[in-house]
Amino acid sequence: MAPETETSSSDYEITLPTTSPPSASSPTPMHSTPSKCKEEMYVGQEFVSFASFKSAMLRWAVSCDFKHRYQKSDRQKNVVVCADKACDFEVRASWKQAIQGVEVTVAVPTHTTCLGTSTKRLPVNNHTFLREAVPEIMTVGKNTTPNEVIAAVMWHYNQKMKYQAAHRVVKVLQEKNMQTEMEEFRQLPQYVRIMRKLDTMGEYFLDVEEGSNRFQRIFVCPEASRSCFINSPPMIVLDSTLTTSNLPMPLLVAVCPDPNNEVALLAWAVADEENEVSWRFFCERLALYCVPSCYVTIYV
Ligand SMILES: [Zn+2]
Repeated sequence: MAPETETSSSDYEITLPTTSPPSASSPTPMHSTPSKCKEEMYVGQEFVSFASFKSAMLRWAVSCDFKHRYQKSDRQKNVVVCADKACDFEVRASWKQAIQGVEVTVAVPTHTTCLGTSTKRLPVNNHTFLREAVPEIMTVGKNTTPNEVIAAVMWHYNQKMKYQAAHRVVKVLQEKNMQTEMEEFRQLPQYVRIMRKLDTMGEYFLDVEEGSNRFQRIFVCPEASRSCFINSPPMIVLDSTLTTSNLPMPLLVAVCPDPNNEVALLAWAVADEENEVSWRFFCERLALYCVPSCYVTIYV
């Protein structure tokens, strides 16, 4: 084991452990990382893939202010150590056939020699980290500014990031949002197929333009909403708003009172434009699938 060294840096709210790092085979989570760290890994922790393991690792490194590197990274095993070669920090994860996922097999979360030796480039400016972490802490829309990202990262990770890094991630995420939205529209037929299988009593209906397959409108009424409505006072309120996405579209909604007299969402539709055709599409499906009787009062 490498000798522990003293640190006098006041940049860190970290005190070096006075005891040896916990044994690598300890079955319980270890809490030897500094208090400002929001992330940690422990033996037995499971991940769906090495990609999600790596993403959690990166978040840990950022929130706890250390640099890590992969000593080994293949489809069976990942070995992560500290960028400081003398440091004892180590995490190993292996693919486990039994769980069809990745499990942490060794976790030595204590840093011994590296603390206080300030790194030149803080991990918080790492673009890979930001691309994953920023969408989790805020919604990046077309009007988001780099300063808003800087403030959010400061709030969640207690680290000041560079304006340049914030600017870059905003640009990439805005671009990605657009592509993601287009991709989401392409997945709608699949979504409808899956939902019809999972929620057999619900109503999922996609209308596309014949020939071009261009999206026109989608109608959704889950069975849970429908049964809630059937057991409630027969009243429906219809309204519309615009989606807040990069491709703003009319969102038509039908709400009803639930048995507790709270407002419940009964059905909704997204259409390419708000006009008589889309409202007719919405109301016809609503009447066909959701409204069993003719004495319902509808407010528009
Ligand atoms: Zn270290």
